[in-house]
Amino acid sequence: MSPHDPDRDPSWAWAEPRWRRAVEKVRAGRSLHPARWKDGARVCVALSFDSDHETSTLREGSVSPGRLSQGQYGSRAAVPRILGLLRRHDIRASFFVPAVVALLHPDEQRRVVDEGHELAMHGWIHEMTSQLTETVERDLMRRAHEALAKIAGRPPVGVRVPSWDFSPTTLGLIRELGLLYDSSLMADDEPYEILEDGEPTGIVELPVEWIKDDAPYLGMNRASTIRPYTPPSAVLEIFQAEFNGAVNEGGLFLLTMHPHIIGHRSRIALLADLIRHMKSVDGVWFATHEEVARYCLAHGSAAG
Ligand SMILES: [Zn+2]
Repeated sequence: MSPHDPDRDPSWAWAEPRWRRAVEKVRAGRSLHPARWKDGARVCVALSFDSDHETSTLREGSVSPGRLSQGQYGSRAAVPRILGLLRRHDIRASFFVPAVVALLHPDEQRRVVDEGHELAMHGWIHEMTSQLTETVERDLMRRAHEALAKIAGRPPVGVRVPSWDFSPTTLGLIRELGLLYDSSLMADDEPYEILEDGEPTGIVELPVEWIKDDAPYLGMNRASTIRPYTPPSAVLEIFQAEFNGAVNEGGLFLLTMHPHIIGHRSRIALLADLIRHMKSVDGVWFATHEEVARYCLAHGSAAG
C-alpha cells in the first residue's frame, strides 16, 4: 500500500480499538500441554506431509507441464518412498491434502488411510485464503471437506490452511464444520485452545513454524528467488535441535514436510536419520495430529 493511498488508513493512524480488535480476533488461549504424554512418554512427535503435488502450480493459475511434473513427482515417486519409510519404522503420520490433489490421486489417499495414517484438509486447490471473500472461502472449505470424506470413507477432523494463510474468517468456518483441530498458527511450541474475540472455541491448535518445515530450506522455484540454500545435513541439524528441545521440555515436536521436497533421495535420507535419532531416545510417542489433538483435549489442562 502506498503511504498516500487515500482509501486506506495507515496502521499508525488506527485508534486503539481497531488494533486491539485485530489482535483479539484469533488468539492463543489456555495451554493444552499435558503433564504427561500417552503411556508416560516424555515427548510427542507428530510428523506431517502436505501433499501439495500439482496444486503448487495450479494455485497460481499456471498450466505449465514442466512445473506440473514437479508436482507429479510428489505422487509418483515421493509418497511411496515416504510410506515405505513410515512402514519400516511403524510410525503413523498425518497427510494434509488439497481436495484437487485427492481427486487427482484418490488411490494414493486410500493407500495413506489404509496404512493407518490420517488424511486431513489442506484447502481446495491450495488457494490463498486471505484473498477470498468469506462466501468463497466457505464454499471451498465445504467442498474440500466433502471430497476428502468421500475418498477416505470418513470426514476429516483437522485442517491446515494452505500456506498457513489463515484469514480473519477462517476460524468461524472451522467452527461451522465442527472440526477438532487446526494446524496453521504459530503462537506456541505446545498445543493450545484457540480463542475467538477472547472467547474459548474448543478448537485445538497444533502449532507449526517455518523453522520446522522442509520448504524454506529445500524448496525450489525457477521463476522466483526460492532456492535450496541449506544442505540436507544442516536441515537435519536444525530439526534434531528442535526435537532435542522438545525432549528437554517434555513437549511436542511437530514437523511439516512436502512429498515433492523431502521425498528425493538425498532428503529422504535426512528424514530416515532424524527418525533413527528420535527412536534412540526413550519415551517418544509418535502420533497423528488427530491423536495428539484428542489426547490434549482430554489431558491438557493438567499443565495448562
Ligand atoms: Zn501446502
